[in-house]
Amino acid sequence: MKSSSPSTGRSEQYLCNEPLAQFDYSDPMPKPLHRARVTAVFHDIPGVTSIDFAPGLAPRSHVDDHVKILLPPPGAPYRSPVPIPAPGSPAPLLRTYTRRRYDPATGAWGIDVLDLGHGGPGSAWAGSVRPGDEVTVRGPGGHWQMPEHPGTVWMVGDAVAMPAISNALEALPAGSRAVVLLEGGGRSYPLPERPEARIVDIPVTSGGSALVDAVRRLRTPDQPWWAFAHGQAEMIRPLRRHLRIERGLARERLLLSAYWIAGRDAEGWRVMKPEFNRAMEAESGD
Ligand SMILES: Cc1cc2nc3c(=O)[nH]c(=O)nc-3n(C[C@H](O)[C@H](O)[C@H](O)COP(=O)(O)OP(=O)(O)OC[C@H]3O[C@@H](n4cnc5c(N)ncnc54)[C@H](O)[C@@H]3O)c2cc1C
Repeated sequence: MKSSSPSTGRSEQYLCNEPLAQFDYSDPMPKPLHRARVTAVFHDIPGVTSIDFAPGLAPRSHVDDHVKILLPPPGAPYRSPVPIPAPGSPAPLLRTYTRRRYDPATGAWGIDVLDLGHGGPGSAWAGSVRPGDEVTVRGPGGHWQMPEHPGTVWMVGDAVAMPAISNALEALPAGSRAVVLLEGGGRSYPLPERPEARIVDIPVTSGGSALVDAVRRLRTPDQPWWAFAHGQAEMIRPLRRHLRIERGLARERLLLSAYWIAGRDAEGWRVMKPEFNRAMEAESGD
């Protein structure tokens, strides 16, 4: 049930690229920050907090379009919406979420935050955010656009990839096919209904091993195919090895993103991720 929507006013872009240099962002391309107003918070999907925002960000132009929500670290001398921190003050925490909803007519957008049940800062924010709150948002960013005629797309992910996979299903052109392998797919996340998609629920296993095994068992399509895979790092690396080396899938037909790693929070993972990606890609000489 939607709660009240007190404001749909345009969110304000209030920082330029330049001050971002003082933060330890792994992204080499600084992106603008925006102040974004929450218009609605709802819980229509079990285990998910859906959060809608007023217009003001660039249009959603990629299947994997995402934003980073800036949150004050514990003890920070500033609060949300995070301002440009004074030199020497602690950098904000960044939590990344897929823009699941985007209304091209108004520019309003929304995210779905999975309840991970561990009280991390992103989960805690989603648990307490209210309509009318303002947050600082970095982005949007994104890397992949659906090809015009992809043939078959394998969409593979764990629970937090469900918003991105839903966007991919929506973007799937008529006449193309999708094979969707979802860890914990038995959850009630409402995937867009596409008759061309075969959805396979995979049990949750440590390191996503059942998901990787399920991909190994798929028959390589006769027609051109692509792979779109998101989730924990321990599952993404063997997946890439399998798809790229054992199946020989061309690099440009593979969009993988290691969203998180067990035992590290998003800050810890952000520090490790560039080297992780380098080592993973080096396995296939990329
Ligand atoms: C491009 C991108 C898009 C994303 N889109 C979404 C989205 O649409 N919705 C969504 O809910 N999440 C999404 N995520 C994942 C989300 O950013 C992370 O799960 C985030 O770390 C959660 O923040 P937190 O503060 O709750 O936990 P953190 O403080 O980052 O981590 C606390 C603890 O929880 C563990 N942890 C972190 N993430 C997970 C997880 N997914 N499952 C189990 N344990 C975890 C960590 O290893 C750590 O031990 C996306 C990530 C990326 C990179």
